[in-house]
Amino acid sequence: MEKVVNLCKRRGFVYPGSEIYGGLGSSLDYGPLGVELKRNVKEAWWREIVTGRDDVVGLDAAVIMHPRVWEASGHLAGFTDPLVDCKSCKQRFRADQVAGTRCPECGGELTEARQFNLMFKTFVGPVEDTAHVAYLRPETAQSMFVNFRNVLETSRLKLPFGIGQIGRSFRNEITPGNFLFRTREFEQMELEFFVRPGEDEQWYDYWRHARFEWYVRLGIARDRLRLRPHAGDELAHYAKGCVDVEYAFPFGWSELEGIANRTDFDLKRHSEYSGKDLTYFDEERRERYFPYVIEPAAGADRSTLAFLVDAYDEDEVEGEARIVLRLHPRLAPYKAAVFPLLRKDGQPERARRIYDTLRRHFPVDYDQAGSIGRRYRRQDEVGTPFGITVDHDTMKDGTVTLRDRDAMTQVRLPEDRLVEELVARIERP
Ligand code: ATP
Repeated sequence: MEKVVNLCKRRGFVYPGSEIYGGLGSSLDYGPLGVELKRNVKEAWWREIVTGRDDVVGLDAAVIMHPRVWEASGHLAGFTDPLVDCKSCKQRFRADQVAGTRCPECGGELTEARQFNLMFKTFVGPVEDTAHVAYLRPETAQSMFVNFRNVLETSRLKLPFGIGQIGRSFRNEITPGNFLFRTREFEQMELEFFVRPGEDEQWYDYWRHARFEWYVRLGIARDRLRLRPHAGDELAHYAKGCVDVEYAFPFGWSELEGIANRTDFDLKRHSEYSGKDLTYFDEERRERYFPYVIEPAAGADRSTLAFLVDAYDEDEVEGEARIVLRLHPRLAPYKAAVFPLLRKDGQPERARRIYDTLRRHFPVDYDQAGSIGRRYRRQDEVGTPFGITVDHDTMKDGTVTLRDRDAMTQVRLPEDRLVEELVARIERP
């Protein structure tokens, strides 16, 4: 884990947030390469869940919603963690994360557990009174339920159909940590898939399988992933069933995504609290009912961390140690890097021309500093899957070498076939 964190800082994937002011507990900033990686993770999700399907549409809703939303959803009353304080060192812990009754830091006595609501509270407008209290959303899901009727009326979707959203959520976590794994603001990638009651079990099966396979297809080793069903006493108040996709992080198996059968709980509650009818009329069955909801809820930051950790590798090339991120080409921040072998004979100009052409299609890096071996190493370390070298022969016959980060093979091909070849390799199944 430490190696990944160091690499992230050194190469500009992730920086400690507000670092020049000493940082702010577990707030993190994505740097130039990190922002590309995370965008690619979100893009892969969006393509798979929203634009790649004809039964799902997207949404991008406001972070601050009407406070009644959180009454209806149950968050105001129940979105809490049990909190204990150490009477000696004053540190705070989640009661369910400390074993015994003594402080894990100093051994001091702990207070009784009290419930702490994880929602960030704020005020809308200039008046700071109870009538103006609002919350930063702790999940994106509720805006999909609140917009259920809007989507139904403005699209021609029929059950089963889904609404997908990627967006920021906020939770005032008592003990954030483990780098990107648990922070107080993070991005979620959530799908609310509305189905006929009675067909919920089959869709629940479908989605947990589909979501597991998504991580595998994007390169995570199957044996470092598992599906863990929730025990009865672990289930949220609204859920009939829930299973977590977990990854074997260096700090232990931990949740990447939860897939829950939320039943008709949310639509019913919002109907009740808003007074608006959120039922669905099933023309085929000639009946009106509240659809059931299957929810795959993933975290963009947690999956980015899993992709990074899983891709991290160290091996040896020509007697030299190298660090390599074996990221799936679709996730890699740069898809390729272009190098002139020599800094003379017109090679840099030729390489820059190729770089400019490729850059119109996907993110590409250009590097002419240092030995070619060192330049390859620099790209391996940030996961760039392909290296393109312009050399003496390029100047004669217009061919370049294409090096593969993982297989370490090199092939020669005409430069005008590069785009096509790279697209095929990036999109590999
Ligand atoms: P945990 O038990 O780890 O607190 P959770 O079960 O409360 O997570 P959900 O409410 O199911 O999480 O949220 C769905 C997804 O959102 C999680 O699987 C995770 O990927 C992401 N997520 C939730 N909380 C955080 C956080 N504090 N930091 C980063 N990602 C988060």
